[in-house]
Amino acid sequence: MWKFIGMETLPIFTAAGMAAASVCAAALIAFYPPPETFGKLIPVNNPWVKDGKFAASVCNGIQCGLCPFKCFLPEGARGRCKVRINHGGRIKTLVYAKPASVHLDPIEKKPVYHMLPGSLIYSLAAPGCNLKCKMCQNWEISQIYPEQAAHTSLVPESLTLKVEGSTGRVYGELKHKEAVTLEPREIVSYALATHARSVAYTYSEPVVFYEYMYDTARLARAKGLKNVMVSAGYINREPLEELLKYMDVVKIDLKGFDESFYGDYVGGKLEPVKETLLTLKKSGALFEVVNLMVPGLNDGKESLKNMIAWAKKELGPDVPLFFSRFSPNYQLANIGATPAETLTRARDEALKQGLRYVYVGNVSGHPGESTYCPKCGKVLVRRYGYAILENQLTPSGGKCPYDGTKIPGIW
Ligand code: SF4
Repeated sequence: MWKFIGMETLPIFTAAGMAAASVCAAALIAFYPPPETFGKLIPVNNPWVKDGKFAASVCNGIQCGLCPFKCFLPEGARGRCKVRINHGGRIKTLVYAKPASVHLDPIEKKPVYHMLPGSLIYSLAAPGCNLKCKMCQNWEISQIYPEQAAHTSLVPESLTLKVEGSTGRVYGELKHKEAVTLEPREIVSYALATHARSVAYTYSEPVVFYEYMYDTARLARAKGLKNVMVSAGYINREPLEELLKYMDVVKIDLKGFDESFYGDYVGGKLEPVKETLLTLKKSGALFEVVNLMVPGLNDGKESLKNMIAWAKKELGPDVPLFFSRFSPNYQLANIGATPAETLTRARDEALKQGLRYVYVGNVSGHPGESTYCPKCGKVLVRRYGYAILENQLTPSGGKCPYDGTKIPGIW
């Protein structure tokens, strides 16, 4: 063949071949979102590297099916979330039992208002997230590689209740330990030892530490603890449905209600989050929705009205909906905090449209922190910040003591 073409034409053929290869590579990358790192040194011998779920073999690699990005991962590549890789043709999680942050919180901090008001919740996060919110409140742990996380975490180990001799005031002494890893069985045992009633998978994005969350939730349920996932809802239906077997409450952060905001400030799409909310509704799970209102970016009247109307129609009037104050942070440090009037207006609009449990978050002392009976209007749970000043629902098993209206939740 080379006899006819001549050696002088070889560079042309080589260039053509390279051009064709580049076109193929570009098409592949356009079709599958590219992973964050190729050929980076992967610490697969660490004890927190475990087999992951929801991946399928495809030509020359695997495809992760955990979240809507569906990353295509050639051998050695890492997904957009930075914590899932293809190693030896299998999906691996790099953050199993490797927490980035562990705290004992009041449940109001999640914020979850329709489950066990005033109780403690053992809360943990692993590094990583599949989204890239410019206003992320926890970007120091959500936007890093697991290798960049601190080697050890301070882990709440036990809480001893004591009585102050002179005043009779009850207070708690919380003991911590430093830990490199935190296995699901340890989480459950520390949660019980710190008087937590539930475990929260929170702070970063629990979807990307799915296996760790799933195993912990299963054990926690067996020991009588409740489970709460606080998430942006960027997860595919099958893993979500599987997880719901063990979740008691899911809190979804609905970042806004138009695709351009999701594209420009979140690094994802709105539609999959709506799908998640519809799946939650269909499954009968208890869930709450929170919207962080960023001034000038996602607080437009039209989009807010659309969000409220959609929530009422598709999720029902009983879904607890929170409007939370944004504080200058991360890549939006140049934008001021949300004025309280914006949050009040949003709450008023939602109440006007017929939603029954509408809250204002991150504004201590706002009347929108409390839970009211939708029928008689009386205060049922009075809150101030994370404190519970009055709770009529726990003693009554979740019924308004004035008119018997049943309030959805776990009381
Ligand atoms: S969880 Fe999402 S972002 Fe992470 S590897 Fe899987 S598909 Fe990609």
